[in-house]
Amino acid sequence: MKILLVSGHRPGHNLCKATGVDEGSLNVELVRSLLPLLSPYAQVDVYPYERDMYQDNKNGCLKVSLKDYRYIFEVHFNAGGGRGTSVQLHSAYKGGISVEQAIADNMAALGFKKRGDNGIVRRSDLLNMNTALRLGIDYALIEVCFYDSAADLALYRQRQKETARAIAEGIIDRFGLKAGNAGPSSGQAETRNAVVTGCSSLNVRRTPNGAVLGTVKGGASLRILGAGKDPDGDVWYKVTDGRLTGYVWPRYVR
Ligand SMILES: [Zn+2]
Repeated sequence: MKILLVSGHRPGHNLCKATGVDEGSLNVELVRSLLPLLSPYAQVDVYPYERDMYQDNKNGCLKVSLKDYRYIFEVHFNAGGGRGTSVQLHSAYKGGISVEQAIADNMAALGFKKRGDNGIVRRSDLLNMNTALRLGIDYALIEVCFYDSAADLALYRQRQKETARAIAEGIIDRFGLKAGNAGPSSGQAETRNAVVTGCSSLNVRRTPNGAVLGTVKGGASLRILGAGKDPDGDVWYKVTDGRLTGYVWPRYVR
């Protein structure tokens, strides 16, 4: 199963003066924590951290092909004077909500107050959510808690690792994902062909996030041989173009 994780906004955006924290950085931090938790169970891609998927979608220049994904999960933190957590789905989404309900329940178990209908909020005013619905892709957005609430933010800081686990376990348990089903990310699947996309020149490294051996150009054909993790737990593809063999950042390979 292929999952796309999205961190809302960009690092540094939506600064809250009261708490001194910006939402973009919180979103990225949590997605970075989710990635290694989910990667053994699914083929997980991350929308480029430095980009705002909403803006890219609005401008018609999305950096990934959404149709490739079975599930899109977008991370935000809330603001505006409330407290608590909510998992948000499209009002017209007719599919099951057991994944999202499990996430809301897991979050509540950490001490976050459930908002909306037992932690689920339905809406139809979000562009990425609308796009996913139109394409028939399951999509959910979490508003983890209120980052302009000192109390919510303190709870999150205290339970950051558990928050990531609460979300990941909801997805793993309720989709029935099994370890080792990660596809190429697991390093166990058969090799496959791919193309360098979304960048003009991609570094090929000796080890995951290690020394650069050389580069391959945008549009170049590669063969994915496997995968490996860097010390942060991020997954890198092992590839060859017949000349160079090494590790590349999966975001730029399709
Ligand atoms: Zn947001």
